[in-house]
Amino acid sequence: MTLLLGKTEEELINIAGTLGEPAYRGRQLYQAIYDRRIFDFEAMSELPASLRTRLHGAVSVTQTVVNRIFHSNDGTRRYLLGLGDGREAEAVFMPEERRDTICISCQVGCAVGCTFCMTAQLGLKRNMTAGEIISQVLLVLNDVYGAGIKPPHGTNLVFMGMGESFLNYDEVMTSIRIMADENGVSIAPRRITVSTSGIVPRIRDFARESIRPHLAISLSGTTDEQRTAIMPINRKYPLEELMQACREFPLEERERLTFEYVMLAGINDSLADAKRLVRLLNGIRAKVNLIPHNPAPELACQASSMEQILSFQKILVERDLPSFIRRPRGQDISAACGQLAARQSAGAL
Ligand code: SAH
Ligand code: SF4
Repeated sequence: MTLLLGKTEEELINIAGTLGEPAYRGRQLYQAIYDRRIFDFEAMSELPASLRTRLHGAVSVTQTVVNRIFHSNDGTRRYLLGLGDGREAEAVFMPEERRDTICISCQVGCAVGCTFCMTAQLGLKRNMTAGEIISQVLLVLNDVYGAGIKPPHGTNLVFMGMGESFLNYDEVMTSIRIMADENGVSIAPRRITVSTSGIVPRIRDFARESIRPHLAISLSGTTDEQRTAIMPINRKYPLEELMQACREFPLEERERLTFEYVMLAGINDSLADAKRLVRLLNGIRAKVNLIPHNPAPELACQASSMEQILSFQKILVERDLPSFIRRPRGQDISAACGQLAARQSAGAL
């Protein structure tokens, strides 16, 4: 069955053509799916009844469905989404005063194997398609605001759910190009952040994209030995290569590269690490997000104390490196960074 979600406007026009329909029917489909977020042909009242029936028989918008929603005390919602083949992915909605953030997945599981991350424990099940990636955003917006209702304020999108975006590069970029289109989902690239564990060749490809969101690098270590121990990808792309690609990354005016740093007690949180981090980022217009480690029973890691995180941050700030401590969101429903593993668990249901 052909799925329409994930197709560009041009592709939808072609599909309409194969059904003997003029180009504007393809445009109407595009607008209905991406702008008004309608998944059911029957609700596309601008299409003639006969065409709706034919579409029903021939194609479908998406196979992604919401299996379950977990609500946190802090307003965060975690979505367990069923994909066409029975696999599950997760997305997280985080309300904020001025703007909401949706955190989405790009793979079911992940092959990178970071020791502090629950997704790693799943291993890689499979890549998600562009359509599956976009479906998360549309389903979340429909749940939060109602079908077809414009979000009252802008939406930030972060590729920080399950999976490594740069190991599913083409589908991720296709999804971004479609979502950035003003006639459709219309989330501007400057409102989108892609996070990577440091796949160097793809960082260089990303740098050359004409529609190019912000980039966040998950660093979490200041020496090769230390980083390799917790992020095995460092063996393939060691710090020097990674930092070289970061130094060459073409930033827009006033744009900064974000470096994420998961704070792990006794592993990467010493004040010597903080000083090394400043040196590593020297010459890069950077900001650092310090992420308190979110626990899970399966993970052996110890989170740094808040006192230690604050002392670490102080060193960065004193040396003019903007740094922020990420507030954990939705920890009570296993929705915080690194807790996504498509499981039913968690207390607050
Ligand atoms: N695969 C991508 C994006 C997903 S993870 C990447 O690794 O960048 C998003 C962020 O959460 C990463 O910076 C990652 O280092 C961090 N993270 C993973 N597990 C975590 C945990 N248990 N607690 C806090 N942060 C975690
Ligand atoms: Fe994969 Fe990112 Fe988790 Fe590492 S932190 S295992 S790259 S999802």
